[in-house]
Amino acid sequence: MATTPPYGVPVVEDGVLVSTNPASGAEVGRFPVADSDAVASAVLRARAAAAWWSGLGFTGRRERLSRWGSLLAHRMGELAALVHKEGGKPVGDAILEIACAIDHVAWAARNARRVLGPRRVRGNLLTPEYAGHLEYQPYGVIGVIGPWNYPVLTPLGSIAYALAAGNTVVYKPSEYTPAVGQWLVDSFAEAVGVRDVLTCVHGLGETGAALCESGVDKIAFTGSTATAKRVMATCARSLTPVVLECGGNDALIVDSDADLEAAADAAVWGGMSNAGQTCIGIERVYVVQEVADQFLAKLVEKASALTVGTDPDADIGPITMPAQLEIISRHITDAVERGARAVLGGVDAVRPPLAYPTVLVDPPADAAVLREETFGPVLPVIRVADAEEALRLANDTSYGLGGAVFGRSRAMDLARRMRTGMVSVNSVLSFVTLPRLPFGGVGDSGFGRIHGDDGLREFARSKAIARRRAPSPVPLLTFRRTPFGEQVVRGLIKLMHGRHGR
Ligand code: NDP
Repeated sequence: MATTPPYGVPVVEDGVLVSTNPASGAEVGRFPVADSDAVASAVLRARAAAAWWSGLGFTGRRERLSRWGSLLAHRMGELAALVHKEGGKPVGDAILEIACAIDHVAWAARNARRVLGPRRVRGNLLTPEYAGHLEYQPYGVIGVIGPWNYPVLTPLGSIAYALAAGNTVVYKPSEYTPAVGQWLVDSFAEAVGVRDVLTCVHGLGETGAALCESGVDKIAFTGSTATAKRVMATCARSLTPVVLECGGNDALIVDSDADLEAAADAAVWGGMSNAGQTCIGIERVYVVQEVADQFLAKLVEKASALTVGTDPDADIGPITMPAQLEIISRHITDAVERGARAVLGGVDAVRPPLAYPTVLVDPPADAAVLREETFGPVLPVIRVADAEEALRLANDTSYGLGGAVFGRSRAMDLARRMRTGMVSVNSVLSFVTLPRLPFGGVGDSGFGRIHGDDGLREFARSKAIARRRAPSPVPLLTFRRTPFGEQVVRGLIKLMHGRHGR
């Protein structure tokens, strides 16, 4: 069955969400929409399952999560085909996304005990009779709200870490990718043999809002900055904590000593893979004047060679959300009208459901294509006097998700000074492939971290216990404190901290 164009817009028919392919309109699946009662009931079931899941301990959870990772590894072809069918993503890109996600599941499972397990912490000279114990306890139930553009990697970046930390999860996938969300949840149940540890609730934005109001113990949101603000406002009413992974406007700096061949290759892939629909995709390129012509020639040559189409092995697939096509078109037209040169593609690059590669040279600094997330295969390239100007312009944005630097002598220094949560040096998007590195942004790109040690801690509450292990030699924490005790405090504090700057 096919719906009428524009394809790919999810529709709700009689309380059922109908998911369709963005290019053909072919139906992909039907999912009952969860109203607030259904969401509340999913959260109740997840809460009941939480005691069992957290009681398994790190070893029990590791074993089960590893089984899930193994199932995903064996069935990645099937999942990639579904990602292509529902979102239009080329199968090769989907495989890469899934491979990365599986690595995160395995890493979170293996490292949860090291990062979150109980430990003794050193005592203090002032109160030597106390021993410190620190552990990280699960929140309980985590609500995960996901986007459509990486329907496997982005939710699993939260889900795997939340589960490894001992929480259960209720997941609301994007209305554009419910079938992939359901597949993930079903695969977990198949691998682990239980249903309520990871469940799915489907629907439009209202279902996400209901999840925020459902009494979950934390919300992990990935999506646009505008929706993140709504999520945070809703969660503020119940003081539900949030981790927000929002949009970006990532810049790539090409310095004068960069390997231009590698930089051009990375710019094309970083800006145009997944049709540019990548939160950490390259949205702006700043290239130092003396190498700009050479870089641009290579960039255009590589971008012109990309295949665009709806078949599974095209380099650039269809745009998943029809409304995004208008934004891409508006950004290109605005830039060209304000003096940018389209050296590839241009104002007629958008031919629904496809957008063809476009390279725009020197749009003005206030052009929409530089200020907003374009989410299409469009690369604005701006020539700058030197790397310092590149950095200043790269940082001139309200977003601060990722970024990239190509160069040698100054590359690490520039990377450190980029106002973002993550940077790749002489590569693009590579930080996401290293599970040990935390992932998250600053400014309008959100706050909190997924992935890595920080990502595990994001889904646990620290619990501090101070235990008296011996009688107090000089009791201090009592009204029975003596003048001698006070003398000891003064003497010890002077000894410990009073030696500097005198
Ligand atoms: P949206 O913000 O439109 O939606 C994100 C999720 O929030 C969807 O599941 C959506 O449901 C849900 N939602 C919508 N309204 C509400 C509400 N009021 N309360 C709670 N949940 C709600 O983002 P997109 O799905 O369009 O994703 C693209 C965006 O995500 C881009 O800005 C991209 O940069 C960003 N992104 C960020 C990443 C990161 O890690 N920082 C990674 C990937 C993407 P529904 O779809 O049903 O409306």
